[in-house]
Amino acid sequence: MQSVTPQQIRSSFINASRSEAAKLSPPKDFDSLDWDNLDFLGWRDEKMPLRGYLVVPGPEGLTGIMLRAPEGGARKNRSVLCELCRDVFSKEDVLLWVARRAGQSGRDGNTVGTLICADFLCCGNVRKEPPANEINPDPAAVVLRQIEGLKDRTAQFLGRVQAKQRTRPAGYKEARPHGCGGRASLRAGQR
Ligand SMILES: [Zn+2]
Repeated sequence: MQSVTPQQIRSSFINASRSEAAKLSPPKDFDSLDWDNLDFLGWRDEKMPLRGYLVVPGPEGLTGIMLRAPEGGARKNRSVLCELCRDVFSKEDVLLWVARRAGQSGRDGNTVGTLICADFLCCGNVRKEPPANEINPDPAAVVLRQIEGLKDRTAQFLGRVQAKQRTRPAGYKEARPHGCGGRASLRAGQR
C-alpha cells in the first residue's frame, strides 16, 4: 500500500467516533514501516492494549476499523486460524477481534467479530514462502495467491462491518456488543 499519514488514518474510521479516533496511538514503528509489503495497516494500541485497528486502502481511499480484543487474551493453544491470513505456520496468537458495525447499526450496539492474528502480522505471514512440494512446486506463486486471498478476505470483513452483506438466514442473531453469544463466539466455537 502507499504510505499514509497519521492524520489520514484518524479520518478513515467508519466505526469509531471522532474522539476515539483522536485518542488512538499510531503504530510505534510508524516511521520505519515497509509500506511496499503491506496490504493494510494493522496494529494494537500501545496505550489501550485491548484496542486494535485495521486501516485498509481501497479505490475510494482508506477505510479504518476499530476493533476490540477479548479481556482474557488468547487461549494458550493456537487452535484457530486467523481469518485474514490463514497462516498455518505462524505461532502467533489469534484473537477474536470484535468491531462495532458502521453507522446506526453500530450505534445500536451491533458488532461483528472475526479471528485475526493478535498483532496483525498477517501481511508478513502471507509473504513467507512455504516449502516447495509436489502440490505447490512454485513457492513464489503460492505467496502471490496468499496475498490475493488476504486482500479478498480483508475486503469481505470490511463489508461485514459496513453491513454490505447478503440476506441473513432466518434466525440469524447479531453478536452482542461484548461478544457474549451471537455469531462471533459461535464462529470461534466451531473451530
Ligand atoms: Zn493473520
